[in-house]
Amino acid sequence: MSLLAEDTVAADLGLQWKPGFLALGPAFLTELRPTPLPDHYWVGHSEALARELGLPADWRQSDSTLAALTGNVSVAGTRPFATVYSGHQFGVWAGQLGDGRAIMLGETAGGLEVQLKGAGRTPYSRGGDGRAVLRSSIREFLCSEAMHGLGIPTTRALCVTGSNAPVYREEPETAAVVTRVAPSFIRFGHFEHFAANQRDAELRALANYVIDRYYPACRTTERFNGNAYAAFLEAVSERTADLLAQWQAVGFCHGVMNTDNMSILGLTIDYGPFQFLDGFDPRHICNHSDTSGRYAFNQQPNVAYWNLFCLAQALLPLIGDQEIAVAALESYKTVFPREFESRMRAKLGLTDSAESDRALIEGVLKLLAAEKVDYTIFWRRLSQHMAGGNAEPVRDLFLDRAGFDAWLLLFSERHAQASQPEAADLMLKSNPKYVLRNHLGQQAIEAAGQKDFSGVATLLTLLQTPSEEHPGADAYAGFPPDWASTIAISCSS
Ligand code: AMP
Ligand code: MG
Repeated sequence: MSLLAEDTVAADLGLQWKPGFLALGPAFLTELRPTPLPDHYWVGHSEALARELGLPADWRQSDSTLAALTGNVSVAGTRPFATVYSGHQFGVWAGQLGDGRAIMLGETAGGLEVQLKGAGRTPYSRGGDGRAVLRSSIREFLCSEAMHGLGIPTTRALCVTGSNAPVYREEPETAAVVTRVAPSFIRFGHFEHFAANQRDAELRALANYVIDRYYPACRTTERFNGNAYAAFLEAVSERTADLLAQWQAVGFCHGVMNTDNMSILGLTIDYGPFQFLDGFDPRHICNHSDTSGRYAFNQQPNVAYWNLFCLAQALLPLIGDQEIAVAALESYKTVFPREFESRMRAKLGLTDSAESDRALIEGVLKLLAAEKVDYTIFWRRLSQHMAGGNAEPVRDLFLDRAGFDAWLLLFSERHAQASQPEAADLMLKSNPKYVLRNHLGQQAIEAAGQKDFSGVATLLTLLQTPSEEHPGADAYAGFPPDWASTIAISCSS
């Protein structure tokens, strides 16, 4: 298909569009078109999200849809744009960033923003080429849908399209575009941007937009003497705390928790060098570029709080009182431990809470850390034990049998009163069999590089319902091979 730089053809996705973020005006964004890519092809797609968006059943049959979602033709009814934001990267103020390669198509009538990541340069690209490579696009696509399958708040991904156009990173690779979907892609960094530039009117307009659209309860709250901006900060803190509790419980390491990668809605956003832990190592660093370990797994809850502090500073001109701003952040410190314990209780099959639960949780995490026991396999095997299987497969994971047996005794005693089937059911739901381990993604990526996309589709199917058994797919639920530890994933994407 020829490349259409100008709008001679518009694909009609069958969706209605509304102004959404665009209505905020030019101080917040630049209208522009995606830059076309040659030789485009489908790499993967999520039918589940297509249904949620309300796309027609045959949405992928049309060449113009493929072209449109690669950025080669426009989408009827849309006025695409890129937004400006700033942020702190690795603890240091980085100044202006912005959508350097993501172009928003618009917001659907159903209230979902649709954006094309990797769709070309924008005024915010700085030195970058505006592109995303196939490998990182497949990782983002799969992990977005995997997180959703796990019930963890996240931006979604409708599809990945690829192109044979070369993209240069450490070596030549090829380009891809991810169609991302979320109620909003606004980040802490959007607020930091206008605060740092002393643009109070824009800061206020942005906060009002986000509160009215996504946090309307802040308008009527009596908290903080009715200070809606403080209530907003508190609500974001709580959502972020809840998100972090879920990351820590499932063993997810984000890898680049810069303030520009923090969603104002508490969604997991911007999948880069993320990793689901294999062996449980609390100090694990998944980002090869993170030499100091700032974003190590066990640092994530503190980093999120640090990032919220940056958001608080940005909102200070609106909140008007430093003490109130600090008070609004406080809830993070209660919500995170409460939610983390509640998630861990579910993993342990406990439907009520007891004083001793904290020791039970800390005890098992200590045992797992001491021998770097495979985190996902441990929890799944423990669930199967609760469901009636014998304890040997769980015990076999530990060299320190005595230590494990002592813990298992406490665990069994805690469950003595409870209904076993109910606990087993909760555990099997709360302890996924399938997570997107690096080596699984890597295998799908390598096949996709040879134009075999079946691995992407298979993984997607498993990860969309990760707690189900999926007979015949045990190979995707096993220990990582030795070579998995040699996969080095950096910020380069
Ligand atoms: P990230 O580390 O992917 O969250 O990106 C940080 C900032 O760099 C954001 O402003 C991105 O839009 C921008 N960026 C990352 N990669 C590229 C690229 N290849 N071209 C243009 N901008 C990019
Ligand atoms: Mg980012």
